[in-house]
Amino acid sequence: MKPLLQVRNLRKHFPVRGGFFRRVTGWLKAVDGVSFDLPRGQTFGLVGESGCGKSTLGRAILRLHEPTGGRVLLDGTDITALERRALTRQRRHMQIIFQDPYASLSPRRTILQTLLEPMEVHRLGTPESRREKVLELLHIVGLGPEVLHRYPHEFSGGQRQRIGIARALTLDPKFIVADEAVSALDVSVQSQVLNLIARLQRELGISFLFISHDLAVVQHISDQVGVMYLGRLVETAPTDELYRDPRHPYTRALLSAIPVPDPKWRSRRILLQGEIPSPLHPPPGCPFHTRCPEAMPVCRREMPDWRPIKEGGIPHRVACHLY
Ligand code: SF4
Repeated sequence: MKPLLQVRNLRKHFPVRGGFFRRVTGWLKAVDGVSFDLPRGQTFGLVGESGCGKSTLGRAILRLHEPTGGRVLLDGTDITALERRALTRQRRHMQIIFQDPYASLSPRRTILQTLLEPMEVHRLGTPESRREKVLELLHIVGLGPEVLHRYPHEFSGGQRQRIGIARALTLDPKFIVADEAVSALDVSVQSQVLNLIARLQRELGISFLFISHDLAVVQHISDQVGVMYLGRLVETAPTDELYRDPRHPYTRALLSAIPVPDPKWRSRRILLQGEIPSPLHPPPGCPFHTRCPEAMPVCRREMPDWRPIKEGGIPHRVACHLY
């Protein structure tokens, strides 16, 4: 069966302007040639250090940032080729949940108004059926009708995130980008919201792109995981395989930093030297060579290809001269 989402060589480059005339003096390659598939009803976990381009990738897929190049196909429709009005219609199938739901909920609208709005904009249903749908969505996310006439500031962070999720569900989307959706929550609330997302995936068949800097959280919720570094994917694999048998040196370093209750853990930790380079001036060859403990002379000269090392089902791919 065709994957729900196909991302092909997606790029998002931002112009950097300088001088008196604000001329373009360079390009920040926030996303630079990303490709992956997301099957229906599955979750793709996207990890990487802050500033690696993962949030920009999520937004470029939804065209909240206009891509510089590449293609995104959702259920066979080329999102990148749609003109404005067709894109607005298509938007009901793809939604986003933000890290800070408070920022995305209007403080002057009640929860009822907030949840009705997307259905009113897309002219879906009748006033009665919309209200029924709001009650159903609140039930799905574990809230009752008593919240309908309250305002966002009256809720806790976890409750607000549930409202943000209910809002993302109002238009029955096929695909949701969850951008650091649980990062701001306490650990106990985090697991409740993660369980809710996993249930939505299972029961409603929604596909998620789950973006997080937290590898333990991503492991809990994803069918496959992609590791990003300086605007590129460096490794993707089924979740179990990536955590059991990571191949790229960057993935190994990230995984070695997850704390485990083992006194020998410190000795196994791979400490990366140096800072992540600026995406404005990425190093030549393999972008990771300035920090890689296994770098070879070829790594300074040539960009490694993005190649499969295991086919079948969800493939295991890696961009590294070691393979
Ligand atoms: Fe390290 Fe070379 Fe592989 Fe890059 S290509 S990750 S520098 S070994």
